[in-house]
Amino acid sequence: MPREKRSLAVVFPFTSIVGQERMRRGLVLNAVNPRIGGILIRGERGTAKSTAARALAALLPEVQVVAGCRFGCDPDRPTTWCTECRERSGADEVLPVEMRRTSFVDLPVSATEDRVVGTLDIEAAIQRGERRFEPGVLASANRGLLYIDEVNLLDDHVVDLLLDSAALGMNIVEREGISFAHPARYILVGTMNPEEGDLRPQLLDRFALCVDMRGIRNPNARMEILERTVQFERDPGGFYASWEPKEHDLSGDIASARDVLGDVTYTQRDLFTIAGLTGEMQVDGHRADIVILKAAIAHAAFNRRTYITDEDILVAAELALPHRLKRQPFQDT
Ligand SMILES: [Zn+2]
Repeated sequence: MPREKRSLAVVFPFTSIVGQERMRRGLVLNAVNPRIGGILIRGERGTAKSTAARALAALLPEVQVVAGCRFGCDPDRPTTWCTECRERSGADEVLPVEMRRTSFVDLPVSATEDRVVGTLDIEAAIQRGERRFEPGVLASANRGLLYIDEVNLLDDHVVDLLLDSAALGMNIVEREGISFAHPARYILVGTMNPEEGDLRPQLLDRFALCVDMRGIRNPNARMEILERTVQFERDPGGFYASWEPKEHDLSGDIASARDVLGDVTYTQRDLFTIAGLTGEMQVDGHRADIVILKAAIAHAAFNRRTYITDEDILVAAELALPHRLKRQPFQDT
């Protein structure tokens, strides 16, 4: 294979992943609305967890960003702008825009707090009155996908920070009376192998959605996986090209869903259905109810509807409840 071709990393197409519907659905719903609050994928090794996350980022539509902004601020949302964009626009500059691909950021398990949130140069501030901010992982992840492999092995404090900023949609660093803020809205995907230790229950509950992956036992499906894997390894470009129309369609569907998301309505009856479900299943706290509503809205938008149905609610519940129940009623379905 020519050298330049090899350097162009071709990603395994998301739409060619065999089975694992629930995981794919959970990822897509988070892509439609990253504010759902992320997804935790639990499963043994070799169940396509990282392949799926990487593949999702690769197919997502390009987004409009403020040109020259280190954080990829959204030109249409001035309230979320970083400190630098606020200053630029305050100086009466009309901020230029450009298109950018969705980034895929792989968080190393050894990541420290500074590496994640970034650092303020206090010396420069005190001695020269300059505010210098060295961006961290959250800056690269803004409007992209943040992938945390083996989240259960990460420092608890760092996981806390990640979940905090994901919920807030902002990263705010403060030191010695100086502060710097930038948007940190990203699709959060964590994975873990339960055999290698558990996640604290408090952290578990803060992942909006969760799927438990099973290895695929069906011989036909396994054969399909084998075939596609070999085809991809032999000719990544050719394999990708044969799936490109499907990838393009899904990307378009996600973009349309993002556009109608704000128009999706729900009724008192829908809320009652959700509350009835979580009440009956004895789910503690109210996070599950909110997550189910958000995910149901995203599912409706993805299906080009502006109202939610009981099916949307059920689909959302099977993603929002597995890690919040002591017994796991969805595991075998
Ligand atoms: Zn900015």
